[in-house]
Amino acid sequence: MRKETEAIHAAMETANDSVDIVPPVHRSTVYEIDSEGRAEGDWHYTRLENPNRVQWEHVLKVMEEGEAAAAFSSGVAAAAGVLQALSPGDHIIIPRDVYAGNRMLVNKLMKPWGLQADFIDMTDLTTIEEHIRADTRLIWIETPSNPMMNIMDITSISELAHANDAVACVDNTWPTPFNQLPLNLGADLVVHSTTKYFGGHSDILGGAVVTREKGPLFDKIRFNQQIGGAVPSPDDCWMLARSTRTLAYRMRGHNENAGRLARYLEDHPGITEVYYPGLESHAGHEVARKQMSGYGGMISFLVDGGRKEAIKIIGRSKLISRATSLGGVESTWEHRRSSEGPDSETPENLIRISVGLEHPDDLLEDLDQALEA
Ligand SMILES: *Cc1c(COP(=O)(O)O)cnc(C)c1O
Repeated sequence: MRKETEAIHAAMETANDSVDIVPPVHRSTVYEIDSEGRAEGDWHYTRLENPNRVQWEHVLKVMEEGEAAAAFSSGVAAAAGVLQALSPGDHIIIPRDVYAGNRMLVNKLMKPWGLQADFIDMTDLTTIEEHIRADTRLIWIETPSNPMMNIMDITSISELAHANDAVACVDNTWPTPFNQLPLNLGADLVVHSTTKYFGGHSDILGGAVVTREKGPLFDKIRFNQQIGGAVPSPDDCWMLARSTRTLAYRMRGHNENAGRLARYLEDHPGITEVYYPGLESHAGHEVARKQMSGYGGMISFLVDGGRKEAIKIIGRSKLISRATSLGGVESTWEHRRSSEGPDSETPENLIRISVGLEHPDDLLEDLDQALEA
């Protein structure tokens, strides 16, 4: 079956004796056991496993075309679940412009735990190769990156990782499986902040890890999920499986609207640079075309001027909300450097926009008036 169909039907595949059209929510935290402590069915205690999480993990696995998935309570919890599956002392390679929360996770939590990490420019394969060491166990990929929209070659980097006894893990939050399928391109793991496009309505926090193959590494991630305990509630799992039913059509809308806005911004005299992988002028366009089937809803651009000019423009929008995060049906934008905090390397004149599903003409009108000097 095609992805659109599976997105709608996958959740019911695990509810085999149910006559419901949509799955019920199982809020019970405990399940009946026999007098010797054995569980009746598969269920014991909700932190370990519950019907809605199993359903949601099945949907994730089907969408990313992997073998298994583990759902977490947030995107950074999912990243922590992967990194803690390594051993203290292990080395990882991670993009210099990785999502700021993951940079903080690595620097402030994982380094004290014993992880070693090099933050580097990952658009160039030679640079990555130069940083690989005997103890490198994982290469973290985020493409397009946040907020610079750098494109990394998933297939080549995964091959490089495998040749050096390391795994490749891709943060696929921005493209979603409708625009990019990292496991089919050779990556071993995919992570998500399902807070973004999977949820799609700015009202659920969640994260996930999907694996290409079950094995000792995924067993450790599963252990980290169940014993680390950063698990989503049954209601959140239910909501995420529900939202996924419309993901294909939402992504088509995000791709289309963002493509239109990117071309508009590219022609605007007040904008000096537009970072959108769908534009032919983008440095990573050729690689993006090879590994993506759509270019997503995120655009970053530089305004003529500095911090003051960028902030002034954002302040003038009437339709586009001022907010961080992304992936909702409503358009939002922000001065990204202000959100990232003191160790941000993002240019002061950069605006990041999450293009929503409003009519593109309304978005263009709002942009037009906001950009008018
Ligand atoms: C938001 C985001 C995360 C973190 O997810 P949370 O759900 O906020 O913890 C990770 N990676 C990317 C690319 C993101 O945009």
